[in-house]
Amino acid sequence: MAGGPAERLRQVRLRIERAAQAAGRDAAEVRLLAVSKTFGAEAVAAMARCGQAEFGENYVQEGVAKIAALRQQWPALCWHFIGPLQSNKTREVAAGFDWVHSVDRLSVAQRLSAQRPPPGEGGLPGPLQLCLQVNVSGEASKSGVHPEQLPELAREVARLPGLRLRGLMGIPAPETDPAAQRAPFARLRELRDQLVARQGLALDTLSMGMSADLEAAVLEGATIVRVGSALFGERARRAPP
Ligand SMILES: *Cc1c(COP(=O)(O)O)cnc(C)c1O
Repeated sequence: MAGGPAERLRQVRLRIERAAQAAGRDAAEVRLLAVSKTFGAEAVAAMARCGQAEFGENYVQEGVAKIAALRQQWPALCWHFIGPLQSNKTREVAAGFDWVHSVDRLSVAQRLSAQRPPPGEGGLPGPLQLCLQVNVSGEASKSGVHPEQLPELAREVARLPGLRLRGLMGIPAPETDPAAQRAPFARLRELRDQLVARQGLALDTLSMGMSADLEAAVLEGATIVRVGSALFGERARRAPP
């Protein structure tokens, strides 16, 4: 991978800016989440020195260890949990992360809400910011709530006191054709818009788009793009599907 962290960050920000411009959007509406899974605390610190403040992790143990290793020197970093979340790992996510993007079951949301430390404790600022993961690729994915079950899940999750429901997250099946990339992102945006219109939920977040398809996601309204390999290089091991 060409260039150091500063150059890679510059390139990714440029891609976001160009896509935002093409969509008639302000690039400042799109937050860049640097997905640091499989890369060590040193790689995160190097990105933080370049001005990157938001990081995404997929594996609870790995993420919690990195947060602990960096807390002293980088207390203002914002940590997002974006990986599959089992019930027996919710406590560590509720106590260590600022955001979670990958909730697709009420039982997990209830645990996160109950286990979120009260404001002030552990230095955490209030409720856990949450996105519901939606299955926008049908058979291709087993994660994510089915769109038909989304309204009821959103209604229940929005009531939980330890959480703040911010929006939706999607991981569509990989596509190379730009139009095919855009379709599931458009679907996710429509689902968000319906929740806002029909249930009055204040959802300001669409977490969608990765290294290979961030332009398509920005064109369809992404407010957070989750970028790993374009920032950190290829991963040694593949993330589980
Ligand atoms: C790994 C991962 C990413 C980043 O993927 P890249 O293709 O490396 O940009 C984004 N979102 C989720 C949920 C991931 O697991």
